[in-house]
Amino acid sequence: MTSRTAVFATLAMAAALACAPSAGADDYQVTFSQGRTDDDGALRRADVVASLTPDADGRLRLNRIGAETGLYHHWAQFILQFEASDQRGRLLSVVYEPHGVWRLEDWDGGPVQARYSVLLQHDRFPNEPGDDELAAATPFGVMWTGRALFIEGAPSDDVDVAFFAPEDWRVTSPWRSMDSDALRFQPTNTDDLLDAAFFAGMHLERVVELNGVTAHIATGPDMTAEADLFSDVLQLYAAEYAELFDAPIAQPPVIIALPGSFWGGGVIGRSISMTLAGELNDAFAPMARHVVAHEAFHLWNVAWRIEPDARAALEWFLEGGAEYFTVRTGARLETVSEEELYEHITRHLAAYEDARVSATIAEAGRTKLENQASYDLVYSGGFAAALALDLRIRRESEGAYALDDVLRYVHGRYAGDGADSLDLAGLAQATEETTGLDLAAFFDAYIEGGDAIPALEELASVGLCARAASASDIDACDDLTPVQSAARASWIGAPDEH
Ligand SMILES: [Zn+2]
Repeated sequence: MTSRTAVFATLAMAAALACAPSAGADDYQVTFSQGRTDDDGALRRADVVASLTPDADGRLRLNRIGAETGLYHHWAQFILQFEASDQRGRLLSVVYEPHGVWRLEDWDGGPVQARYSVLLQHDRFPNEPGDDELAAATPFGVMWTGRALFIEGAPSDDVDVAFFAPEDWRVTSPWRSMDSDALRFQPTNTDDLLDAAFFAGMHLERVVELNGVTAHIATGPDMTAEADLFSDVLQLYAAEYAELFDAPIAQPPVIIALPGSFWGGGVIGRSISMTLAGELNDAFAPMARHVVAHEAFHLWNVAWRIEPDARAALEWFLEGGAEYFTVRTGARLETVSEEELYEHITRHLAAYEDARVSATIAEAGRTKLENQASYDLVYSGGFAAALALDLRIRRESEGAYALDDVLRYVHGRYAGDGADSLDLAGLAQATEETTGLDLAAFFDAYIEGGDAIPALEELASVGLCARAASASDIDACDDLTPVQSAARASWIGAPDEH
């Protein structure tokens, strides 16, 4: 623990020399231990010592995206004790302001040292967004999300985090490793520290090279088959997505896949977390592959600048679009068979049809986690909309353009740092600008309005038909015209054919 004192002394000096209130080096030290002896034996307690600078109002917080958890005090629900002292070691008077905010009353500037403990109980409450984006304990270690563990003050781009764990533990994170023991890391900044997940324990770790960046996969100790599959999928799809977005993965991702009671996945920054509810057999492998490929797609679109108010109306494009491009990429790579492609389309069109009358696709984004119909409108309605839009653009431009061009434009303009941000009107405008087609009516009728997306009509252009028995049961049409064959080949032809 000597480094903490050293770092703190350096911090104090730096702060004394530079009187600007901006944050200097932030340093976090985390020690894992068993919370209660009568518990399940997992190391559910994390003691954190954080050296950081409060924000301009003297506040520290643990509330990032915490409102979605359903926990009254957000992530701070599980904080056991909290204290802070200033550079001179003087204990500061702390006022807790719900939810998850601490105001340091007599703080007079400069970095502080905060000490607190968190009990990992997040996996024991019914939560949204679900265990896959929370923190969870297993017999072989613990998954934490940065936002549930690390307090933040003024943003910093000089962040260190060190873990003190049992001898046989290691930590798998998306951050740059600073030592061979993989216990010290350097996130790029405060956002990178908080919008992340990591696993600490005796898990299986895989290292995957993706075009110059190194990705890590953490799974349960006996999930070798899963780790192999995820590694393959990540390599295969990341290369395709890099072409689709015309941009490489900027920073290496981490995948954390744990056994659980449901199938699910989420993305936090560049961390993909997944819950697998069964063994990887022939029935589950395609699903697991699909979840990784879908989440990998988010590694690009998660970088788009979107104001909180504008997000709901774009959820269909973020989620349904991810779903559509995941399936289409799989069909091109032939990891998704023709039969599976028809199943994906059938499943989404049927779910969309059932949910359609409940709300518009744009409205549904607001309540996607609250009811099944909204969820289906976002994921399946969004899939149907992205599919129909892609095929419409291809048909009307006679193959000159595709939704891919829109995606590329949006990514080029809205990913990373910049002033303007994406909203639904901006997306509609981008669609017209990149394709030269008049598609305002598409957005008006099917996204902001509740008209039924004419997916069947568009699918016919690439030789897909509904079976007579059900309008949403999709199969190949009996006879394809040369125009349909050519359109189909350019739509889901092998990657080197488009
Ligand atoms: Zn998603």
